[in-house]
Amino acid sequence: MARGGSDYPMVKMPTDLLQEPADEATPGDEVASGEQRRLTRDSAFSYQCQRCTRCCSEYLIPVSPFDLLVLGQTLQLSTTEVIRRHLGDGLHLRRRDDGSCEFLNEHECGIHAGRPLVCRIYPLGRNVTDGQEWFSIMKPIMNSAEESASNLTVQDYLVQQGAVASIAGVEFYLDLHAQLLRRVEDGAVELLGTVDASVDELGTAGISELGLLDPDATIEDYCSRHEIARPGDVMEKARCHALALQEWLDRQLGQLT
Ligand code: SF4
Repeated sequence: MARGGSDYPMVKMPTDLLQEPADEATPGDEVASGEQRRLTRDSAFSYQCQRCTRCCSEYLIPVSPFDLLVLGQTLQLSTTEVIRRHLGDGLHLRRRDDGSCEFLNEHECGIHAGRPLVCRIYPLGRNVTDGQEWFSIMKPIMNSAEESASNLTVQDYLVQQGAVASIAGVEFYLDLHAQLLRRVEDGAVELLGTVDASVDELGTAGISELGLLDPDATIEDYCSRHEIARPGDVMEKARCHALALQEWLDRQLGQLT
């Protein structure tokens, strides 16, 4: 497949954080037995982590571009470095030989403040069907934790875990991804040499293989070409990244006319 090259490390867009490679488990693969209980943010829910850390050894942890920005801010690294040092395959956090997450210290997460969304909401899985958000509860890993009775809700849990901003950030990127896909018509598919690829494959793989889902590298390129100040916080960076991706697609489509 003929595509433009890039020196950026590759990162991919996990378009659905609950659908990952079937051969290895990611949070969300397993749900409470039988019919999935569909929870909303108002549903009663609470969970008390017992710090057994087994969930940090049993699952592959997918990392979205927004998670990358949060990780970069926490680790004081560019997202390029986060990808290079901490993402094994461009999509998941690197794991040690024993299967544990590289950020797992003896009994706790070494990057608690910057942990990815799926870690924040565990043991919940977040789903969106026909625009409606709902949550599933994963089958608990034995002895990993207990659910405690209380009058708390899913929303309370999300706030407690600092997940609300991460969900907004991940949604921002998923919306952007959908917008880009809508604009990629047959001509653009041909332009990028992926005539046989589906539009969805182009939107996900084409952009990621060009390194454009590395937010900091793409933002740096965009800001220097436009001679504008670099964005400061994570959400400003995400917005600037979106502008850069839209501009990139404009250029690709412009070459067709
Ligand atoms: S990032 Fe932290 S919470 Fe998530 S799997 Fe790694 S150690 Fe566990």
